[in-house]
Amino acid sequence: MSKEKDRLKIDYDRCLEQINNVENCVCEGCGGKLEPIKTVDNAGTPTYWVGCKHCSCFRSGIEKEYYKIARELVEDNVLKPYHSMSRADYSDTPEKLEYYYDSQTAGLSHIIRVIHQMLKEKFNDKEAKNEL
Ligand SMILES: [Zn+2]
Repeated sequence: MSKEKDRLKIDYDRCLEQINNVENCVCEGCGGKLEPIKTVDNAGTPTYWVGCKHCSCFRSGIEKEYYKIARELVEDNVLKPYHSMSRADYSDTPEKLEYYYDSQTAGLSHIIRVIHQMLKEKFNDKEAKNEL
């Protein structure tokens, strides 16, 4: 196998590892399946990045539960991380509306995961100190 193919195989395997390291890993934008997608890096070198073919985005992946909560909050217009994006500006076509939901959900999924991790640590600390 050539060095180029060796390196691409490593990149591909690294993507699979990234996906498999997250329990019930889904696309943080649309909830779709993630997979290694062949692309080129900023230097123009062929490589693989984790991505979602459903919403055509490179993603890092997130546990499905965080995605589901984020999507519900975005669809119900309760929370949105990107305030400069207004749903009304994306409502003229189904594709634009989907882009709006996917973008907002992707951002919020990660925020919810961070908050959940912080709360778990706080509660674990309090439990350890018998403060609950
Ligand atoms: Zn997606």
